[in-house]
Formats: sequence, structure tokens, C-alpha cells
Amino acid sequence: MAAKEKKFFLRGDKWKIAAFLGLFLAAFFVAACCYGDYLLSYGEKVFTLSPGETEKQENPEGGANNSDEEEKAEAETETDLEPSGSAGEEPEPGTGEEEPPDEELGGDKPSPYPPPPGEILKIKDGDYLLALVTKQTTLGDYAPTDLVPIPAEYIKPAQRQWKYYLRQEACENLIRMCEAAREEGVELFVISAYRSYETQERLFRDYAQRNGEEKANTFSARAGQSEHQLGTVVDFGGTSVDKTQAFADTQPGRWLAENAHRFGFAMSYPLDSQRITGYIYEPWHFRYIGEESALAWKESGQVLCVFLEGQEQFWEGH
Ligand SMILES: [Zn+2]
Repeated sequence: MAAKEKKFFLRGDKWKIAAFLGLFLAAFFVAACCYGDYLLSYGEKVFTLSPGETEKQENPEGGANNSDEEEKAEAETETDLEPSGSAGEEPEPGTGEEEPPDEELGGDKPSPYPPPPGEILKIKDGDYLLALVTKQTTLGDYAPTDLVPIPAEYIKPAQRQWKYYLRQEACENLIRMCEAAREEGVELFVISAYRSYETQERLFRDYAQRNGEEKANTFSARAGQSEHQLGTVVDFGGTSVDKTQAFADTQPGRWLAENAHRFGFAMSYPLDSQRITGYIYEPWHFRYIGEESALAWKESGQVLCVFLEGQEQFWEGH
């Protein structure tokens, strides 16, 4: 009986164990299949898509084609965003962008103007319309190569036996200006224009002999330091008060002060600016700097040399 019972028990036990094992194997099989699927799909995700694209897969709406398009779109947006993003962070990258040139300038060009007392900067190219010509700079023996004679009709009648020259562009605009003034009933006459290094040297020596060097220095430039050497400067006159401050109150004096900038000319030495320019008020002396620059200069309200200091300058040895 006991043996029977034992047998039966064993039989029953075997059945239970078999059932348990069967269930366990079934469960394991199901779990393994699911995990396998998961692994496969994960593998696809990982190995067929780039990291940037995994986000799109989280978008359940994205069909294969749509997500491709979206991927492209997003990729494009990202590349678009990169530059605009950095532009948006202007404070940091902005200063970053500004700093390198500053460092370059600081390294190569340690803001040479104004130079230390006693030092004079050599202008690299006198052809440059905005070259800064002051008592701290020199043109050396620069001479323009495109000088043309000013037509006699624009020269003061008493001086028409002499020839006066300007660089071509300056001369063309001088003529344009004289014609415009003439249409308004104002006669503009040239009494001085281009002066070479040698002429200026002689002129300054004569003034210095007559007035003393210190005084001559307030109304005449030393050789190499005259704007007239640029070939873009004109002294106007033909009045009874030529080369005096009263010229400002003559008809041509007033017209020039109001209109010269429209033709690219700037008054270099205005009233009350001797402290800045080193020269007395010269309402007759105008320099051609180009129309666009002259308009900007007028708009700035600055003395010409200060305005030019703010423009790019090129010095020899810097
Ligand atoms: Zn002059």
C-alpha cells in the first residue's frame, strides 16, 4: 500500500513537476521571443539610425517617408540654427569676433595715432582720399600721379597765367561744384591747389623768414605736412578778403560752408578748432574726400582731422 501510495505520489509528483517545467519553459520561450524582438528592434534603432535621428523615432506619427523628410528638415534647421544660434548669443561670440581684430590691431598696430611727442607718422599712401594729414603725420615726398590742370575759367582771373593742378577725381568734382554754384549766381574761384613737397618747403621757409617759425607754423604747413600735397585740396578766393577769416562772410565763403560737402569737399580748419588742428580758421581751404565720406563727415559734426582719425589709416612701418 505504502509502495502503491508512494508510487502514486511519485506519479502525481512527476506530473506536477512536468506541468511546472512545461509552464516554465513556455514562459521562458515567450519571454525569450519578446526579448529577442526587443533586441532586434533596438539593434535596428541603434545601428541603422544616426544619434541625431533617434529623437524622430520617438515621434509616433512619423511614417518612414515623413520621418525622412523631417530628418532632412531638422538637419537643415539645425545647420540653419547653428549660425543664427551663435548670432543670437551675440554678447559672447560678438565680443569674441570683435576681440581677435582688436588683438590683431593691438599686436600689429598699437593704435599709432597720435604718436608719442616728437614722433611723426609716415602716411603709407597719399592716394588714399581719407589719409590723415596733420602736424603729427607726413606724406614724405609723395606726389600724386593723376594730376590734371584745373580749367582756367575756375581760376581767379588775376592768376590765370599760372597753372593749377588737382587729382582727376577731385578736379571733376570741383568743376561740378563750381557749375552748381554758378547756377545759383555764386562764382567760386581757385587761388591755390596742388603744391609739391618742394613748393611747400620753399613757401614755409619764406613765411618763417617773414613771420617767425612759430607763427608760420599756425597758418602754413611744413613740407610733407600740407594737405595741398595730396592734390585734392583747393583754396578759394577771388574776393577782396582772400585768405582772411572775413572770407567766411563773402558770398562764395557762405555758399562753400553750406554746400561743399554735397560735392565731396570738407572744410579742414573750421572756426575755433586751432587747439585740435593746430591751424587757424581757414574758411577758404577745402579738401576733397569723396562724396559719401563728405556727407558722413558733415553728419558727424566733427572737425575733419577727428573724423579721419575715426577712419582706417595706414602708416608705414605699422
Ligand atoms: Zn589751403
